[in-house]
Amino acid sequence: MKPRNLKEKHIVELNGRLRPLTAPQKNWALNSTIRHYGYRLKSGMCTCMKCGHEWLETRDGMCLCPECGTMVKIKDTKERVIRDKSYFNVITTMEGYQVIRMFLMIVEMRKGMKAKPAYLEIGSYWIDNEGKTTVVGLQRTLGRYIDSFAFGSPLEIRRDNDAFQHISDEWVYPRIKVTDIIKRNGFKSSCHHIHPVTMFQELLTNPKAETLMKANEIELLRYLCHSPFNSDDVDFYWKSIKIALRNGYKIDDVPMWFDYIKMLEQMGGDIKSPLLIAPKDLQTAHDIYVAKVNRRHRKEQQEKERQQAIEDKARFEELKSRYFGMAMTDGEIEIHSIDSIDAYYEIGQRNKICCGSAKYFLKENTLTLTAYLGNKQIATIEISLDDYSIIQCRAFANGICEYTEQIAGIINANKKMIAERKRA
Ligand SMILES: [Zn+2]
Repeated sequence: MKPRNLKEKHIVELNGRLRPLTAPQKNWALNSTIRHYGYRLKSGMCTCMKCGHEWLETRDGMCLCPECGTMVKIKDTKERVIRDKSYFNVITTMEGYQVIRMFLMIVEMRKGMKAKPAYLEIGSYWIDNEGKTTVVGLQRTLGRYIDSFAFGSPLEIRRDNDAFQHISDEWVYPRIKVTDIIKRNGFKSSCHHIHPVTMFQELLTNPKAETLMKANEIELLRYLCHSPFNSDDVDFYWKSIKIALRNGYKIDDVPMWFDYIKMLEQMGGDIKSPLLIAPKDLQTAHDIYVAKVNRRHRKEQQEKERQQAIEDKARFEELKSRYFGMAMTDGEIEIHSIDSIDAYYEIGQRNKICCGSAKYFLKENTLTLTAYLGNKQIATIEISLDDYSIIQCRAFANGICEYTEQIAGIINANKKMIAERKRA
């Protein structure tokens, strides 16, 4: 993108004035951001893939290269080439901006040769004193990987994206330069593996982040920086945090502590009580509250079901009580109304049909009846209350009832009686 305003123009111009990587920075990236190997042949002859030195090595695991002093992992292999890459960041300042520069190192190590990495600048974050960021970077290309860039493209103003955010959270060159304001707001010398862009933004805009950094409460700061939701948690429970800290409580597992505090609050516990918010054994306190919350949830569920049953019963009686006690017969088959919700469930269970579980007792425009031949229940019937026709007539397990026609005849003969009940 072309710069859209003076600030962006200025940043592009400043970006052009950033210095290339220094030799110490390059060496650090090569030494520290990828793993190094000693490739060993059957003869025991081992080659440091970083400097090319060969020596006889009998030990396994990690060894120091006697030539360059690099810690190498011994690997028994006939392979001759390693290709590797890493992303790393150099954190610096430029005219009051906090700058996070992102680099890619690509390295090919050939047996017997000194490794010669290539370094490429991917882009940079520019954070002003209000915590607003501007991104300068390579053009991203659409590909299978998030880190696909058009490597010939110019470093221009870009929209922030996953790739830049991801890369800026990778390795950080340990010599970090920050603006005076960020220093004043508590930053000492390390990012503590917290996303640097978020951390600087928080230090510039959020006094709570500043407090935590100054108090060296790194785990809380890490939690805060992790997501906007977490930052809201810190805001919301700030008083509890302060009380816990004032009482010398060290929160080791911050996410668990927040879960605990939220459960405590849910259960009506005092989240300002040092005794409650600073448990000696957080894990145990946490588990106790998980059980409490689950118990309450189950109780609420039961209460809800009870309420529902009461409502269902009232509605059922309103709809169906006019048909209670209804019976009709042709002298052979007897058809009855079903006069309670329990009876619906009981018939449903006995016949493996859903007249109970699917709440047929609450259907407004149909009526469910049951048919007997002697003592044997032979069918469950649903009829329309509009025209008294049979909608379904089921035997056991939804089977077809062989008496359907006979049953239809009985119902047909009693239409008037059912209609009178309906009007009642
Ligand atoms: Zn070496």
